[in-house]
Amino acid sequence: VAVLVDPVKRLANFVRLWQEGYTGFVRSMEILDIAPDIAERPEARPMPEPRGEIRFSDVTFGYEADGPRVLNRLSLTIAPGEFVALVGPSGVGKSTLCALIPRFYDVEAGAILIDGTDIRDVTLASLRRHVGVVQQEVYLFAGTVAENLRYGRPGATDAEVEAAARAANAHDFIMALPDGYDTDIGQRGVKLSGGQRQRLTIARAFLKNPAILIFDEATSALDNESERAVQQALLTLAEGRTTLVIAHRLSTVRHADRILVLTGDGIVEEGSHDRLMARNGVYAGLHRVQASI
Ligand code: ADP
Ligand code: MG
Repeated sequence: VAVLVDPVKRLANFVRLWQEGYTGFVRSMEILDIAPDIAERPEARPMPEPRGEIRFSDVTFGYEADGPRVLNRLSLTIAPGEFVALVGPSGVGKSTLCALIPRFYDVEAGAILIDGTDIRDVTLASLRRHVGVVQQEVYLFAGTVAENLRYGRPGATDAEVEAAARAANAHDFIMALPDGYDTDIGQRGVKLSGGQRQRLTIARAFLKNPAILIFDEATSALDNESERAVQQALLTLAEGRTTLVIAHRLSTVRHADRILVLTGDGIVEEGSHDRLMARNGVYAGLHRVQASI
């Protein structure tokens, strides 16, 4: 999600984050880039470890007050631990729906609740501690592989970093790099494929260990081996968490407990792959026009 942000506000935000110290800064980097305008209520309290139910209650949202509504009175409940795939044509608001959960933006009307609590009643830091986002654009910075992975949890030990990389199917390719975990990935000559980069961000999410996971699947083609490795890593990561995936691949959609089909008219179909194919509606149509969803 690329957003233009008022540079003055952005600078003020930057200074505040800097004053909060390095850890706050690292944790807030992603927020800094996308959401300078979200206010925390003075009475906001830390969110306890969630069971992971997500509820959209009559949510309306548009990016500009006088612009088009992207979501219009959308209601949706995702059960704790459920694996939900969100599919639909480009531009209908899939990424927007997902961005509202960690409060990168605030709803205009209605509410989003986690375990029954309005997400505006908890602190932003605690909300984002429990909601992990793996975005399509992979944010890696110049530095070693280990440093990049620790972005998920700054205090992680070497053993924890390696365990996360193994769970994300990343350990083997990391070990094949010139200096393993100490390889500087900003260095010339170190090239990572799209699938490898995505596995590094999955490893970050393992370190972060959030109860709620939002995964925006890569739209670009991955080679077969990478695709399988990413898929396996995602399924392992999803275990024991509420997972919402913006799915572009049939392999992901087939694994979902429930598929939601979003169009300009809201969620128009939901169910398993087989049920939606049998229904022969929007999902089946999407499936026919694209080799993968
Ligand atoms: P999808 O993920 O389904 O492709 P998006 O949620 O990215 O759809 O976009 C939904 C609509 O909102 C689109 O019309 C898009 O142009 C618009 N949009 C997305 N991000 C922004 C933004 N940061 N500012 C203004 N409009 C946006
Ligand atoms: Mg999108």
